[in-house]
Amino acid sequence: MAELYPVNETFLSWQGEGVHLGRKAFFIRLQGCPVKCTWCDSASTWHPQYVPKQVRKATAEELAAEVLAAQPEFVVLTGGEPCIHDLSMLLAAMAAVKLPVHLETCGAYPIADGFAWVTVSPKWAKPPLAESLARADEVKLIVEEADSIEKWTAAVGGKWLSNHVWLHPEWSKRADPIILKAITEKVKNVGAPYRAGWQVHKPYAADSLDERARPPAPLGGDPTKGF
Ligand code: SF4
Repeated sequence: MAELYPVNETFLSWQGEGVHLGRKAFFIRLQGCPVKCTWCDSASTWHPQYVPKQVRKATAEELAAEVLAAQPEFVVLTGGEPCIHDLSMLLAAMAAVKLPVHLETCGAYPIADGFAWVTVSPKWAKPPLAESLARADEVKLIVEEADSIEKWTAAVGGKWLSNHVWLHPEWSKRADPIILKAITEKVKNVGAPYRAGWQVHKPYAADSLDERARPPAPLGGDPTKGF
């Protein structure tokens, strides 16, 4: 029987982060994440208060047909945490229509073979596997405190395997001068592999221009919201 994937949303937009910034991309956001970060910006994939009443279930072939109709340069498979699902049929369906698939993952679960690009964004609540960090084409560190960069660098033994370690301010702190200064100083003092980053699609509101996109759930980090 064909695998049915739980889909939170799909939309055509452009990649707003990382090495592929600004390129036309089709996003598939799968439902479900056991990591539960306190500042999650995709709470509708897991938080009981924000999950959709009905979650779409789609076959790999249905998703591939939807992507093909949009003619993107590549697919971004995101979540939630995509790697909690068996992605083999989805990757096979995209390969059959020659669509490269990029992955966004926290790296805590095994990464299937077949992705054209892998972004690992490690989370303290469920740290990444060594094999995920070794596979990462780029790393995205969420800088939530002034010492976040040092803590993550120490956690990986002082050396990153990826050539691109993006430093992104946690979005609710994107104007916090302490966070922004920590990122700037790190890049100025060390340079590669560190790169200053930003979620450029958010000020553009690029994703929400597609009517298939779900209105964003509130950002976390606020106990009154429950996460
Ligand atoms: S890993 Fe990602 S989707 Fe899961 S809770 Fe953390 S920020 Fe949200």
